[in-house]
Amino acid sequence: MSVQGLKGFKDILPAEAATWQRIEATARALFHRYGFTEIRVPILEKTELFVRSIGEATDIVEKEMYTFEDRNGASITMRPEGTAPVLRAFIQHNLQLLQPIQRLYTIGPMFRHERPQKGRLRQFHQMSVEVLGTDQPMVDAELMAMAWQLLSELGLTVSLEINSLGCPECRPAYNQALLDFIGERNEKLCEDCQRRRTTNPLRVLDCKNEACREQYQGIPELPDHLCPACAAHFEEVRGLLALLEIPYRVNPFMVRGLDYYTRTTFELITADLGAQSAVGAGGRYDGLVGQLGGPKKMPGIGFAIGMERLVLLLEQAGAAEEEPEPDLFIAALGDEARQQAFRLMQLCRQSGLKTAMDPAGRSLKNQMKQAGKSRARFTFIVGEEELAQKAGILRDMASKEQQEISLAGEPAGWRDRIVPIIIR
Ligand SMILES: [Zn+2]
Ligand SMILES: [Zn+2]
Repeated sequence: MSVQGLKGFKDILPAEAATWQRIEATARALFHRYGFTEIRVPILEKTELFVRSIGEATDIVEKEMYTFEDRNGASITMRPEGTAPVLRAFIQHNLQLLQPIQRLYTIGPMFRHERPQKGRLRQFHQMSVEVLGTDQPMVDAELMAMAWQLLSELGLTVSLEINSLGCPECRPAYNQALLDFIGERNEKLCEDCQRRRTTNPLRVLDCKNEACREQYQGIPELPDHLCPACAAHFEEVRGLLALLEIPYRVNPFMVRGLDYYTRTTFELITADLGAQSAVGAGGRYDGLVGQLGGPKKMPGIGFAIGMERLVLLLEQAGAAEEEPEPDLFIAALGDEARQQAFRLMQLCRQSGLKTAMDPAGRSLKNQMKQAGKSRARFTFIVGEEELAQKAGILRDMASKEQQEISLAGEPAGWRDRIVPIIIR
């Protein structure tokens, strides 16, 4: 039996690759317009980085990370998300000294050992974006506008939901209000919620359990418990979103799975995958750089978009990308003609045409069949007879029109006569 790939690790096959490339190209072009530059960070990091950033008591760190000892006995982890490695690099290279506000993006695979289920991969891909060095509400609005525009440019309809998670000033009081509220209902809550009470009380807000949801009628809402500074910040973010005409909804129950988020948090939600689900999410993490040993007062905000979801959405919308068809298929017969055709193919490729030929040089009928199957726009036929008469045949595969091309001189001359006809 042949060796199979690992469970939860998916091959991106050639038929899908063009869609991935289009998403990436659209994103890169858009990120550049918003002043972002790419940073490429390693897949492996010291385990400590994620324990310190994501938090020890999270599902990711407790159950999902690919953590192992390397051959020297050091504990290393395959990155489960993109923010911590980017921040680690930011701090390590003192990027804030180059530019007070850094706008960075990275695209690549992330790894989480999740229970395999439909659509859940253990290697998945994200585009993630970070702005470091400012807590101005304008940046929050700009980032959401950029995420919104990316999905629009890809032809997807999403809705934006926002919330504010407060700050170390106001969160403890809110947590207490939450604990008081759920404490009274403890026995009626699901096991997860009972556990979250001691680990991360905020997470009870997004419990999907019916019984819990019923119990949580009238639960204290975050936006009502913000300190004046956080309330003003949230107010301004909302005003700026309105100014940019980005439709949004405040969802007071939206929280993040990671401990480090503060203030603005947001999700881009689509209904196109059956149930409502997030294609992208992000938020502010003003304490995280300091928590990782960087400058204490270095605010930051970012978001990540799941690539697999986007690909799925585009395929569903019938907007999957296909490999462009060849411009030219060269059908050649006979040793001499095949040699010349091989030279011609190289010259056409250098001139920018996607060009193909049959390396095995089968019968003309077979080669024409291949040309049709490849959906080439033009076929150029050159056999012994054509060589002798110094005239090849260029066939427009759609209109079936044919014209003679002089084979006088070298293949470079043939190329000069063929290319202008094909490049319109
Ligand atoms: Zn606050
Ligand atoms: Zn629950």
